[in-house]
Amino acid sequence: MINLSKLIALTSFVLTTGCGIGVSSSKSEVEIRDYVFSLAKEKDLFEQDITDLINEFNLNARLEILKYSSDRNSASALVYVKNGLFDNTGAVGRGQMIGANTTVKEDFGTKEDSVTSYGMYIELDRDFMLSRPGKNDAIWWYDKRKLFFHEVGHGLGFEHEPNDVNNLMYPSTDGDKDLNGYFSRVRALYGI
Ligand SMILES: [Zn+2]
Repeated sequence: MINLSKLIALTSFVLTTGCGIGVSSSKSEVEIRDYVFSLAKEKDLFEQDITDLINEFNLNARLEILKYSSDRNSASALVYVKNGLFDNTGAVGRGQMIGANTTVKEDFGTKEDSVTSYGMYIELDRDFMLSRPGKNDAIWWYDKRKLFFHEVGHGLGFEHEPNDVNNLMYPSTDGDKDLNGYFSRVRALYGI
């Protein structure tokens, strides 16, 4: 497996002056997509599921994109297994992208880089998580994977695809999901 958590894209601009002489300058746009997950609470109860789901995600993506840490302070992605999420919202999960953009000055301030760092925030319904067994039960495990991949999709910036029940970004776990289509999209984010 390749670790591609850091993706660097270089963009060059050519600045043309009034007298027609071209001056080249370059500006780097650096994206840090380093997803270290941690559970907000109840680690003993959900750590096994979350680490298994992260492994499944990486296996399908054929990349080591997501990691797990039991140290919440080192996390860039927080998973919150929440009581009553479904009762309050009618949804068993929620996912949100977190992004922070900073302009960095290099070389004594002569060069500017744009650095964007990404994280995510995910909520999962506690009853949903508890009512389905872990990966030993293929059918329920498929259900859990569909939910987790969907919410991570939101965390990566994907919107809903309301017209295709087989798309993982369709707003329900119904249907036989097109994992290949979803993971091609994930890999494209990392330039693969
Ligand atoms: Zn959704």
